[in-house]
Amino acid sequence: LSDSFEQTSLTYFLKKTQIDFQLDCPLAPFTSWKIGGPATCMINPATISELQEAYQFLIKNRYRHYILGGGSNLLFDDQGFQGVIIYTGKLNSINIIESTSIQALAGYSVDKLADFAQTQGLGGLEFAAGLPGSLGGAIYMNARCYGGEFSQKIISVDWLDQNATLRSLSPSDCHFHYKDSIFQHQPGIILGCRLQLNPENPQIILNRMKENRHDRVSKGQFDYPSAGCVFKNNYQIGIPSGKLIETLGMKGTRINDIEIYPKHANFFINRGNGTARDILELIQIIHEKILQKYQIKLEEEIVYVPYQLS
Ligand SMILES: Cc1cc2nc3c(=O)[nH]c(=O)nc-3n(C[C@H](O)[C@H](O)[C@H](O)COP(=O)(O)OP(=O)(O)OC[C@H]3O[C@@H](n4cnc5c(N)ncnc54)[C@H](O)[C@@H]3O)c2cc1C
Repeated sequence: LSDSFEQTSLTYFLKKTQIDFQLDCPLAPFTSWKIGGPATCMINPATISELQEAYQFLIKNRYRHYILGGGSNLLFDDQGFQGVIIYTGKLNSINIIESTSIQALAGYSVDKLADFAQTQGLGGLEFAAGLPGSLGGAIYMNARCYGGEFSQKIISVDWLDQNATLRSLSPSDCHFHYKDSIFQHQPGIILGCRLQLNPENPQIILNRMKENRHDRVSKGQFDYPSAGCVFKNNYQIGIPSGKLIETLGMKGTRINDIEIYPKHANFFINRGNGTARDILELIQIIHEKILQKYQIKLEEEIVYVPYQLS
């Protein structure tokens, strides 16, 4: 928001519509890396209609905006974000439909979603037990782990397109690929989705979930703030990016408080006062060294959000 007039008109709209918001909102607490300065404004819509109304307003008045789910794959700038952050955390209702499918809103935690499915005796989401983040973020990223991927379970996605028009997309409309979806290439907001699951013995489902959660804990994934893997795997070379970084002998390399995790070279951990600047610098160094040694370019998995979107 470039001047006080813009800010006044936004706050007038938000107060009139009674949509929850916070000005000058620190972003670090909303991210798993615990990094990021303040956003000019954060809005917290509690219903789909509030979200749609707010999104229409932002588009019409050309406000810079960005969508925040669980913040587990995001790197906000140290300066913060000049614009409006649309936080989906309050959009978290969930329903069972036709006994084997679940309809949930984008802000629902995927870890809790796996719990919910298990208590209903619905299998298929065990892979997501322990995965940080929201359902919206998991669809956007096409999150995958432990042999599962969100795209495999989706029947339809509800989406607000770039005109804030509600659309229902089929899995093929979503163009899911490895850590990729149409949502990464088109402006819009994922509202939620419907997932197809299969009836199974709840105890068996629970055992699988426990194994996956235990595996993450035993690898120290939650011991320090991070955003999981920084780089996607490059299937051309066929060696996981973490292993490639390991071959550079860079485990434990540190720039100020950001360290390449000795337990997993594709995780950059924040040892306290790490900054976005430190992370971006370390990413740049890895890019250069990997290019030099393997003649390939790694692609980042984490999403960096600059202070000013162009
Ligand atoms: C310890 C740890 C382990 C992890 N392990 C894995 C793993 O095994 N596999 C894996 O795939 N990932 C992993 N991740 C990364 C992360 O958990 C996933 O990418 C997750 O799906 C991101 O969801 P989120 O809600 O946190 O998204 P955010 O970080 O909030 O956002 C990520 C992107 O999605 C967009 N977005 C979010 N919600 C919406 C929406 N409703 N509409 C439109 N766009 C939206 C944001 O604008 C942003 O561009 C890990 C992260 C951590 C911290």
